[in-house]
Order: sequence, then structure tokens, then C-alpha cells
Amino acid sequence: MIVNLSQTVRRVAKRLPNHPAITSERGTISYGQLETNIGRIAGALRGRLGLARGARVGIAMENCAEYFEVLYGIWRAGLVAVPMNAKLHEKEIAFILGNADCKACFCTPELADRLGALQIFAPGMPGVLSTDSKDYAALLASDCIDDVESGPEDEAWLFYTSGTTGRPKGAVLSFRNLLFMAHCYYADIDNLDERDVKLHAAPLSHASGLYAIPHLAKGAHNIVLSGSFEPDRIFDVLAHHQSVTMFAAPTMLSRLINHQRAGSADTRGLRTLYFGGAPMYVSDLKKALEIFGPKLVQIYGQGESPMTISFVGKHVLAQTDHPRREEILASCGVPRTGVDVKVVDGDGRELPAGEIGEVITRSDCVMGGYWNNPEANAKSLRDGWLWTGDLGFADAEGFLTLKDRSKDMIISGGSNIYPREIEEVLLTHPMVLECAVIGREHPDWGEEVVAFVVPRPDATLTAQGLDALCLENVARYKRPRDYRIVESLPKNSYGKILKTDLRQLLKESGNA
Ligand code: AMP
Repeated sequence: MIVNLSQTVRRVAKRLPNHPAITSERGTISYGQLETNIGRIAGALRGRLGLARGARVGIAMENCAEYFEVLYGIWRAGLVAVPMNAKLHEKEIAFILGNADCKACFCTPELADRLGALQIFAPGMPGVLSTDSKDYAALLASDCIDDVESGPEDEAWLFYTSGTTGRPKGAVLSFRNLLFMAHCYYADIDNLDERDVKLHAAPLSHASGLYAIPHLAKGAHNIVLSGSFEPDRIFDVLAHHQSVTMFAAPTMLSRLINHQRAGSADTRGLRTLYFGGAPMYVSDLKKALEIFGPKLVQIYGQGESPMTISFVGKHVLAQTDHPRREEILASCGVPRTGVDVKVVDGDGRELPAGEIGEVITRSDCVMGGYWNNPEANAKSLRDGWLWTGDLGFADAEGFLTLKDRSKDMIISGGSNIYPREIEEVLLTHPMVLECAVIGREHPDWGEEVVAFVVPRPDATLTAQGLDALCLENVARYKRPRDYRIVESLPKNSYGKILKTDLRQLLKESGNA
């Protein structure tokens, strides 16, 4: 069993040193070059930078070719990677770096100055390492080292997901979890080899990067697109390459199928397009199947069990004569190979088909726990099962349908937004007495954020003032698109705010 994932690249490099590993704006590098760079980064981390085994290293990088040499270099050195969405606000990145006690953070140039100014790292730490800096070039001139021997339970990736407490929590993913995820890819989605191409059009810190692991292990050619999601560039790649696989969040898929080239572009080069991370509208899914043919796969997973809870395979999605087609298209499928999934009541008793309860799962993919967070662990991990916080039901055939997400989480453009995080920021405003943040349906983004805010007596609040506060403290995509200044919030007899009533209020006012 290969345990340190960085060995997977070494194996490919031995056999196919000149095969393209990564193509980006900078050109193409081969597996041989990637392998050398991984060894050098690892050598620098342990040698020049003096990091001790098990130290955490942040990755706050836009999509770029260096992503993989950094990620696999961290693993080769026996360190733990903490990938973060580069779109996060620098204060959010600083929180994660502090929470994980990172000793260094690799970042792309755009973020370097902003992170540097926050002085997150103590003097003497390697600190912020920008990919365009002289320091980074010096790392790549270091001597290579061999893999540090690793065990299956060694921590590999801290996947920071927002928590219901509003503070991000680090799901600790071990080599065992990531290897299981890769094996499950081969079992349920596609077997892969060096003829495959993996197109990365979504952030590498999440689904696209996680599924680079099964691709790099088999010598696939990774094409990395930086910048925002642009359907045109995707159609171009599909026209010039064969056996291409890519991830798209439902909102991205919707942009692809509504693009002017959809339908006429040559997409024969597409092998597999997998989507997930948020609910997919059935009408969009039907249109996508018409355009791309039987090449779509739906994935249901979460950071705590990366990419791997249930799925709807290609042939199932393509079965147009299935008597329950609509239901199957609306479902998120059957459990992945080797994964247990149950729908249970609050006491963990399995519910009969059709009854809605919480989805729980158990497998080698499930995280060991949250980093340094026993309270969250006690809630989420019980008797070996991960409580996902998602509500749904299973049908008699075992297809799972998600009814509602853990009550209040908002999913906008494929990204999770936790209301509490925004509420905490709004409550720092001296004139805000109370507030509640909820999601409202949006045709393009799935949902958008709406804030209800109660001013202190005699205080005057403006939407502009509140927006400025949010812009200062949270990522742009998380901030409310609508601020409703109200006199009071609906509450139950325990004084808890009734968000369901607020949602109803929005509906009744026609979302206007
Ligand atoms: P994350 O941890 O960021 O990957 O978000 C995971 C959450 O996204 C899950 O707990 C679900 O609420 C939601 N999600 C993931 N995949 C799907 C899917 N296929 N359909 C509906 N919701 C999904």
C-alpha cells in the first residue's frame, strides 16, 4: 500500500518522465520536472526552513501550476497541508492559519502583500511564501529529499469548512481517507491512465484539487485554468483534447449549458463531468444530459468525507426510460462503494424508506475529527458514524434524496455560507441590536444572502454602512445582497429567532 501520497507522482515520473503533468498559463511541465520540484520543495521545508515533522503549512493559492509541487512537497516532507480558498478575506485566512498553528503559508502574488501586512507569523517562522518571490525560487534550488515515511493515519490535509458556530473548523483528513477517496473514484467513476486529461476549472482547494489525487496517481495530464470560470475556455479545451474529465458546481454547469456555444461546440473530447457540492435543478440536469450525453456523474460528499458519500453514475443518469426518472434525477444517488449511509432519527435509529431524517455515513473516507475541537467532534462523530447535518430520505432502492441542508446553511454559487459568521460581523456594529441572516432563492447562484437587522433604539442604520462593515471582514461572495432594517425579529418562547418565519416573510413579500 502506498501511504505517502507523494510516492504516487514518483512512480509515474519513473515510468513516464516526459509525460505532461501540468499545463497552465506558464506552459507545461512533465512528471519528471514535477517530481524534482516536489523533492526540492520538501527538501527546503525540512532543511532551510527547518519545519518539524507534522507541522502545518497553509496553501492560499489561486489555481496555478505550482499548487501541486507545493501540496505534494508538503506531503513528501512529512508535513500537513492546509489548503484554503484564495477568495477568502485575508482575515479569514489569518484565522485559519492561526487555528491550525501553521508555520508558513504559500500564496500566489496577489495575496502576498495583504497577508504579509497582517503579521500573522512570529519572527523566525518561514511565514508568507509567495510563488513569484526570490525566496520561492530559492526553495526550488534546494536539494531534493526522499519521502518521509508515513503511516495511513498521518494527517495529510486539513480541510477547513465553515461550522454552524460560524467559525471554520478543520476536518482532519489522513492519507487513509484520501487514498480511500481515490480508490472509490476508480471503483465508481472511471479507471484512469496517462491518456486521461483532468481539467481544473474550479478552485483547487476543494473538489477539483481533491480529485487531482486519483488523476496524478495514474499519470493524467492536468490542465489548470486560473482566474474566473469561463465557459469559452472550457469549450476550447474540450475541442483540443481527448478523454477530459472536469468538476463543475451546479451553478457552473448551468453557466456552461446556457452559454452560446453549448450545443454547437465539439464536446466529444469530454469523458466525464462530475458535479456536486449543492443541489442541482432537474431541468438543468436534463439540459446538461442533452448537451453532453451520458458523461455526467453526480457526487454527494462533504469536507468531512471528501467527495465520497453517494453518487449517481453515468449510466443511471443516462437511463431515459427508467420509470422513476424524475425522482432519480432529483436524488443524489446510492452509497459509494464501501461506504455506509443511513437516514436516522435524532437517536440514531434508522428510518424506513421515504421518511426524512439526518444523513449519517461511515467509511474509511470519514475524517478522524476536527482539528482541536472536541466539542464539534462529540456532535459530529458518534459510534464511528459521521453526522452530516444534511436532511434527506432514502427510497426502497437505496437512492438518497436531500431535502434540506442542515437547517440554515446557505449555498451560493456552490460555496457554503454560514449565517452565523455574517451575523457575528454585523453584531460588531455599535448601532446593531440584533440580526438574522438567511438565504433567498436566486436563479443563477442557487441562493443569495439576506440580512434582517434591528437597530438600537434611536439609532439610524443604512445598508451602505452595513455593507462596508461586511466588506471589511468577510469574503465578498458571503456578504448580504439585501439588508432589511426591521423593528424586531420573530422569536419563539425561548427567545430563539425563528428563521423559518423570516423565510416565509420573504416569500410573502414576493422576494422583493
Ligand atoms: P463542503 O463541505 O463544502 O463540500 O459542503 C458539503 C455540503 O454541500 C453537504 O453537506 C451538502 O449539504 C451539500 N452538498 C454536497 N453535495 C451535494 C449534492 N450532490 N446535492 C446536494 N447538496 C450537496
